[in-house]
Amino acid sequence: MDLASKIAILGEAARYDASCASSGTRREAPAGGMGGAAMGGICHSWADDGRCISLLKILLTNYCEYDCAYCINRRSNDLPRAAFTVEEVVTLTLEFYKRNYIEGLFLSSGVTGGPDATMERLTRVAETLRTQHRFAGYIHLKAIPGASPDLLRRAGRFADRLSVNIELPSGASLQRLAPDKNRDGILQPMGLIGRGITESRAERRQSRTAPRFAPAGQSTQLIVGASPENDRHILHLAASLYSHFDLKRVYYSAFLPAGNPSLLPALTTPPLRREHRLYQADWLMRFYGFAADELLDDQHPQLDETLDPKAAWALRHPQFFPVDLNRAELGILLRVPGIGPTSARRIVSSRRFASVRFEDLAKLGVVLRRARYFIACPGQPAEIVVAAQSPERVHRLLAANDPAGNTPYPTSVPDDGMMVADAPGLPVQPWLLPPEPAPPLPLPAGKIPTPELAWGAATAVPT
Ligand code: SF4
Repeated sequence: MDLASKIAILGEAARYDASCASSGTRREAPAGGMGGAAMGGICHSWADDGRCISLLKILLTNYCEYDCAYCINRRSNDLPRAAFTVEEVVTLTLEFYKRNYIEGLFLSSGVTGGPDATMERLTRVAETLRTQHRFAGYIHLKAIPGASPDLLRRAGRFADRLSVNIELPSGASLQRLAPDKNRDGILQPMGLIGRGITESRAERRQSRTAPRFAPAGQSTQLIVGASPENDRHILHLAASLYSHFDLKRVYYSAFLPAGNPSLLPALTTPPLRREHRLYQADWLMRFYGFAADELLDDQHPQLDETLDPKAAWALRHPQFFPVDLNRAELGILLRVPGIGPTSARRIVSSRRFASVRFEDLAKLGVVLRRARYFIACPGQPAEIVVAAQSPERVHRLLAANDPAGNTPYPTSVPDDGMMVADAPGLPVQPWLLPPEPAPPLPLPAGKIPTPELAWGAATAVPT
């Protein structure tokens, strides 16, 4: 098989992994037009410093011994297969880099010859690029569940980012849908990578020449909608992973109906709106000081798809509102829908000199169409509905103005080779979110369960 055919097959096969970034799209140049886009596996990701970087996103092979029901590359699926050699991936990366097509590599693989043999090949790509070719571009490697600690430590020396996909929100669902994988094979590598990152950071604080270990951190991907766990369970699991494994990011991936239909829900529409709300809730946990328990509870185990999670929380907690913008602490300001970290800090700075008035708020970056129902400040028009008095009416008004709640989502999986999440008209997707603000607020500690506990207890809800 020639190299172009392998790129076509293995670039296509890699696009289902969301834990990197966007996928390529296919577009022919019109007659007399210029340019065009191929599915050849170049995607985008955000670097730590906020730059958008282009990555060659491919699988080393889509042959796989495992039979994960949700995965297009499962061994029981009849599809064209291909495999690169280590040397081919190294050469492709260097050639694409020299031509300025890419700034790095995202490399994953189906499992062939067992986890260690697969991980060894992935690691050898990164090692060859770094040591033989002194390649300094970005490298994101998938860590294969069940791979040995020595191999993971070796991979962390050469990769910028490592990620182990947790795949499903509970151990029970993993057992049912991915019987070749097990809890320890996934959580232990995540723990090892998390410890490696923490130790490397500490060593480098002592000595700038200490070796790096996955300096861009680790991430994971979790499929939403293929199994019955509710959003509350998913958010608890994410909080636990962030807290215990020093995760940079949990990627939520709406289940695409491309798997084994006998084991999976008969969805015609990928649950993209649910995926979007989970990203918003995740953002609230990492940068706004919300705990998973606050966002959802036993009475409200699912995120409201018509409303962003912060507004939904605010409407369920009328006792917090209205918030006096001239007195409230920063942490309280962050709880107001329409006020983000930047506008909250601007409010705190500006009120040192004079009272913050309603007419100042837009200039301070407050999104008034959402914040107006939850605040108190001089100059506020008397006719504004107060959320605490009319929560149902405010719910309707907010939902009517919510771009994600009103944007039509595709009703089927596009068949033109385009990733569903790239479809035009969708609200913000993870790879289009701005770089993460720094420094993040710490997740509240203490009540967060261990990943083993959070993952173990599945909360079944009807889907
Ligand atoms: S291990 Fe499972 S998820 Fe990974 S490529 Fe194989 S079948 Fe797909």
